[in-house]
Amino acid sequence: MMTARLIRPSLLDRLPPVRGRYEPMADLGKLSWFRVGGPAEVLFTPADAEDLSAFLKSRPDGVPTTIIGLGSNILVRDGGVPGVVIRLGKAFSTVTTAGQSVRCGAGIADASVAIAARDAAIAGLEFLTGIPGTIGGALRMNAGAYGHEIKDVFISATALDTSGNVRVLAAKDMDFSYRRTGVDDGWVFIGAELKGELGDRETITSRIREIRNEREESQPTQARTGGSTFANPTGQKAWALIDDAGCRGLTFGGARVSEKHTNFLLNTGTATATDLENLGEDVRRRVLDNSGVNLHWEIKRIGVAASDPAAITGSGAL
Ligand SMILES: Cc1cc2nc3c(=O)[nH]c(=O)nc-3n(C[C@H](O)[C@H](O)[C@H](O)COP(=O)(O)OP(=O)(O)OC[C@H]3O[C@@H](n4cnc5c(N)ncnc54)[C@H](O)[C@@H]3O)c2cc1C
Repeated sequence: MMTARLIRPSLLDRLPPVRGRYEPMADLGKLSWFRVGGPAEVLFTPADAEDLSAFLKSRPDGVPTTIIGLGSNILVRDGGVPGVVIRLGKAFSTVTTAGQSVRCGAGIADASVAIAARDAAIAGLEFLTGIPGTIGGALRMNAGAYGHEIKDVFISATALDTSGNVRVLAAKDMDFSYRRTGVDDGWVFIGAELKGELGDRETITSRIREIRNEREESQPTQARTGGSTFANPTGQKAWALIDDAGCRGLTFGGARVSEKHTNFLLNTGTATATDLENLGEDVRRRVLDNSGVNLHWEIKRIGVAASDPAAITGSGAL
């Protein structure tokens, strides 16, 4: 029997021509650390900033867009992501240094920026070594570790607004707070200028090594995870609240609360996004019952459930 999904018109046919790449029905599971979730209706890898800007200027009304980085802080729901998912490619992975400043594209891995800073003997960016995302994701999340966050090393960012116009943002425009920025969710960061201080290359190198070792010891860094699931409530540690509520090792389907770091959820190999989301909600309920604290998701959940009428399936999206 023909369903509504089967007669949905092709999104690809309605999108403007680009120099980059459109990939319909792209598997987002392999682009996210959790390794779960449905496809992107269309995945767009822009050739460069001009290509992305032209796309944003001319995309048809009503087509939702979602930007992802290295997928280390997202949970892609099982019904996939309707509309266009944007992922920055090679053109956004540049990095240059001058004096104490580092200019980079928003698609570059945080760790590569830390290494470029080290090579230029710029200290203060070592913390980026431990954050497995891109600079775009780090700007959006005000990512941080070991007492430093992006806002401490921030000079400026360049973004494209929802109409494709270039915006240059100073610190006050970023409205940084704990693991968030106030910048419109639809804006795409395309680059940043960060600052450190002139330092000693040997000292920077050993700090980077120290951070790597500490990470290995304290976090399930090789696992299918999404990093810290919940934001730390003011003055408290989410992992301790979760532990106190007896959630260490708690499971739901193929999802489990890490025993190494209780604020990390794990896909043990067979989890669906629904398992992970249900487990997270179960943890939230137990913590609320136990301590009265309402945890908030730090992980960004994107897309729709498999049961949602907007779910992306192979049948009708093309
Ligand atoms: C093992 C592990 C350890 C982690 N440790 C830390 C840690 O110590 N500190 C910490 O802060 N985080 C940590 N994280 C979480 C995660 O790495 C960070 O939040 C990171 O900044 C996300 O970057 P990403 O490129 O992977 O973004 P994604 O996960 O792909 O996306 C995260 C959010 O950023 C947005 N986004 C991505 N790129 C852009 C862009 N170019 N423009 C606008 N918005 C964008 C997305 O829309 C989404 O809302 C950890 C994660 C894992 C898996």
